[in-house]
Amino acid sequence: MIERRTFLLTAGAATAVAAGLGSIVMPALANDPDGPFKLAPLPYDPAALEPHIDATTMGIHHGKHHAAYVKNLNTALAGKTDLASLPLETLLTKLNDVPEAIRTTVRNNAGGHANHTMFWQIMGAPGGPGPDGDLKAAIERDFGGLEKLQETLNAAGGKVFGSGWVFVTVEKDGKLALESRPNQDTPLMDGKRVLFGNDVWEHAYYLKYQNKRADYLKAWWNVANWKAIADRYAAAKAGTLTI
Ligand code: MN
Repeated sequence: MIERRTFLLTAGAATAVAAGLGSIVMPALANDPDGPFKLAPLPYDPAALEPHIDATTMGIHHGKHHAAYVKNLNTALAGKTDLASLPLETLLTKLNDVPEAIRTTVRNNAGGHANHTMFWQIMGAPGGPGPDGDLKAAIERDFGGLEKLQETLNAAGGKVFGSGWVFVTVEKDGKLALESRPNQDTPLMDGKRVLFGNDVWEHAYYLKYQNKRADYLKAWWNVANWKAIADRYAAAKAGTLTI
């Protein structure tokens, strides 16, 4: 197994170098050890969210930061088949069953893997349609409309001290709520479901926005993918939304 993995990595790196793709192979290499958790490719070009989120930030955020969460999670769970075989959202509800020596590592990196997996999905090229249908109605019912939701989430994001996230959670009956979490914690740890969320770690915005987190929070709405969020809303109500 070790020989096979070494061969595959070596062959993959050699192929990439030969093709002039040295930088593109990094996320795959960062997946070593190669499971069970995997880094999915970004669902769009890293430049797709420009000018609101720059391509360099996206490339580093996905290819280095998210990749590191996946790698660190796999490393922590190496040989722990019972935990490593759990779905990510289930693992996050069983942190008390994780040996204390690796519990914080698993918490941070499983949370980071889940949060970023959600995050890439719910963004997209600027200029897409806003919320409509029953999602729009729920935003009006639970937040007083999209503008109010944006104000509330931006204010909560601005108040996160240090690194963390701000989430909109969704109950099976469709009810929405806002909550902030520190570090890579996620409402999934409490068995809740996340409709969407925004990453307020400095690595998400610092290259373009420096210390101006409020500007990032405001601009971020331009890349919210309401079609993807609506799909998540429908899945949450159907009980099929996982991460
Ligand atoms: Mn991040």
